[in-house]
Amino acid sequence: MENHGLNTRAVHSGGKVDPITKALKIPIYSSNTYAYKSLEEFFASASNAYSHELDEFTYYYTRTANPTTNALEQKIASIIGCKSALVTGTGMAAIALAIIASFRKNTKILVSDSLYRSTHQLTTEMLPRFNIKYDFTDFRDLSALEKLINKNDYSVVFFESPANPTLRCYDIKSISELVHSNNADTSILFDNTFSSPVCSNPLKLGVDYELHSSSKYLSGHGDVLGGVIASNHTEELSNFRREYGETLGQVSSPFNSYLTLRGLKTVGLRVNKQSKNALQVAKYLERHPKVKKVFYPGLTSHPEHEIAKKQMNPFGGMVAFELRSIDDVTNFLDNKLNLIKLAMDLGDIQSLIEFPFVMTHYDLEWDLKVQTGITEELIRLSVGIEEKDDIIEDLDQALKKI
Ligand code: PLP
Repeated sequence: MENHGLNTRAVHSGGKVDPITKALKIPIYSSNTYAYKSLEEFFASASNAYSHELDEFTYYYTRTANPTTNALEQKIASIIGCKSALVTGTGMAAIALAIIASFRKNTKILVSDSLYRSTHQLTTEMLPRFNIKYDFTDFRDLSALEKLINKNDYSVVFFESPANPTLRCYDIKSISELVHSNNADTSILFDNTFSSPVCSNPLKLGVDYELHSSSKYLSGHGDVLGGVIASNHTEELSNFRREYGETLGQVSSPFNSYLTLRGLKTVGLRVNKQSKNALQVAKYLERHPKVKKVFYPGLTSHPEHEIAKKQMNPFGGMVAFELRSIDDVTNFLDNKLNLIKLAMDLGDIQSLIEFPFVMTHYDLEWDLKVQTGITEELIRLSVGIEEKDDIIEDLDQALKKI
């Protein structure tokens, strides 16, 4: 299967035809437990319950492992092209689990200053309550990064690219080399939600763990929550499951795993179409006189376009743009768009728009918002799979009214 293209892997990998019923599709195994004939049979099953090799996988309690979720983990690993994947109940559960499980005693965490708000909150507000110290810096500045890395012992380095919501891009390969050449024990955690595995492959660029909110592009239909930790560190990932996944209880419900399995089959088709649409939408916005700035990694005007070109193909479905004032923004978002819905999610097949300053990133400190480009004029648009002319027409008629 590994030698096949992404769309083939997305359709065919994960799970097997049921040997008893011959059902071609993976069912929702809702049972939370599994029955055995004898203690001997139970112990034989329990000893394999944390393995990531499906053929050996056995089950005893769904908080540890579940066949529907396990088929999803196989499909995700195949799509990403890595050895194993662990699925959690939400993207934040995956992020929290991966950070906590990677942590060594008396060390710190280093995070990018441009992060999804809840990840920022977790690392700068919650972890310090447990005596876990953090530094954060602008990951575009590799020499500042190097200075921090030389001076501190970090268990975890965490970043995302393109960053939510500004679409700032960071050089994944250079950062990974810098971190690992200084300390082989530092785990690099990378949130690949914005790109999806269709656009970029951070594990091949040197990160240790690729994380996703599968609530977004992976499931793709805005009707499910889920998270992913994918890696080639198979043994460590098994430990994540055994030592942390089970005790922290961050598992996916079999129903959500099923929906994600279903959605994933079209991830390549969806994200390629979204990326094509997004490029056209970004070009349209760039020409519009009422638009001050457009941020899309595929535009030559994007400050990190050269970096994005090295690590993304295509450039994804997310676009950010600034209007001329906060009044223009509120006016534009107030009852004018028809197709495009004002909603906080992203990666959905339908186009969604939001105002990060007061919505997704509302409670970031003012200074950090300014420093990371989350201005009062910034709008984030998640471009869907609708016809590009319809999306542009909707934006156009709304812009005309402001
Ligand atoms: N990472 C990014 C980049 C996100 O945008 C989000 C949610 O919006 C998350 C993580 C958290 O994912 P979830 O909502 O599935 O917990």
